[in-house]
Amino acid sequence: MSKQYETVIGLEVHVELATKTKIFCGCSTEFGGAPNTHTCPVCTGQPGSLPVLNKQVVEYAMAIGVATNCDITPICKFDRKNYFYPDNPQNYQISQLYLPIAHDGYVEIEINGKKKKVRIHEMHMEEDAGKLIHDEWTNSSLVDYNRSGVPLVEIVSEPDMRNADEVMAYLEKLRLIIQYLGASDAKLHEGSMRADVNLSVREVGTEEFGTRTEMKNLNSFKAIARAIEGETKRQIELIEDGRKVVQETRRWDDNKESSHAMRSKEDAKDYRYFPEPDLVPISISKEWISEIKEKQPELREEKLARYKEEFEIPKYDAEILTGSKHLADIFEETTKLSGKPKKVSNWLMVEGLRLVKENNMEMEDIHFKPASLAIIIDLVDKGEINNQVAKEVFELVFKEDIDPEKYIEEKGLKSVNDTDELKKVVEEIIANNPKSVEDYHNGKEKAIGFLVGQTMKAMKGKANPGIVNKLLKELL
Ligand SMILES: [Zn+2]
Repeated sequence: MSKQYETVIGLEVHVELATKTKIFCGCSTEFGGAPNTHTCPVCTGQPGSLPVLNKQVVEYAMAIGVATNCDITPICKFDRKNYFYPDNPQNYQISQLYLPIAHDGYVEIEINGKKKKVRIHEMHMEEDAGKLIHDEWTNSSLVDYNRSGVPLVEIVSEPDMRNADEVMAYLEKLRLIIQYLGASDAKLHEGSMRADVNLSVREVGTEEFGTRTEMKNLNSFKAIARAIEGETKRQIELIEDGRKVVQETRRWDDNKESSHAMRSKEDAKDYRYFPEPDLVPISISKEWISEIKEKQPELREEKLARYKEEFEIPKYDAEILTGSKHLADIFEETTKLSGKPKKVSNWLMVEGLRLVKENNMEMEDIHFKPASLAIIIDLVDKGEINNQVAKEVFELVFKEDIDPEKYIEEKGLKSVNDTDELKKVVEEIIANNPKSVEDYHNGKEKAIGFLVGQTMKAMKGKANPGIVNKLLKELL
């Protein structure tokens, strides 16, 4: 019988924090500026420059630590991680090794109704490196230091995950916690959240871990799932062949669906860590921790429970709406204005999600004024526009953020509610469609649908369908 293997996975997740300025200087963290314009002597490693810690970085890191059930370290400090690389102008990175800001936490994940805790070993603050751009046209490499010094937290899990589903659930959980805290937008595909996967395999039933490899360069949930599958297979094949897994860092190439060795995996000792001499230790009082706890906003689970209670919307809808903090904000804002949670939820779940999908968008890319949707719902309820018109207007609100009232006015889209005017049209339709009228009298209820359709067509979609229905029944 062939041997049974188990995959053991731990994650190192880097999250770019949402501060306005960098971790040790006042340069902007804004993404997308011209190369090397968000720089100064500190973040380009000039001799004699000194770092000054951004307090907001500590507060965001504390907030993430508290929300993931970590202990906050009362006296934490920074260390230098020494290495040369062109994107690292100081030749060292200021990070934390000996006393990281938070440790020994966990998050709970749920898979097919089964709950599991994934433990967090530790969480530390550090600065990001610059970016190398390899220019194939000139066969040269360029460096942009705009990202150098952007604050990061690195969240290191215990090797508690056993398959790709658990990894996805863990990342999704972290993403939501961090987004809800406002500590980062935590977008995997834009690099504000990045995951390195440490993976080893062992025979089922053994206690000892196998030799692990680390995979970098994973920037989507799909790539992570494929990389886990590919690396598990590669390691099992090596072991089955009687060969050894080498401890190394590997780069996953999602296009080729295979990984290749980048370098042998370093240990902490390779970096010659030592305490950062230019920064004083950070003293974190109990009062400061309590303050952070008090400021903690409503997180996803609490919001989900409240939606169920307060709005009586289906569980599935509540899960989708709260699955993005941004979407939840739009829902709440629109509900506040219209007072009709179920209708708001329906519009977002049906038309909103359809448009997100059709336009290949993320929920975070939705940018219309909640007031516009509240107005559309109100106009439908008052019978001033019908559903067809409402959908057309909502699509324009969603795509171009138009003013719905102005648009309806300009295009003359208000429903015709004038019974006398509609009666004339209905009479005409009845006269012109004797076959359908006969069908209706012979018990074919569906025939009335056709007559409604014909009336709407004659009215260019602007008739109030309720009144048309009523008139048809009366006149038939
Ligand atoms: Zn700077």
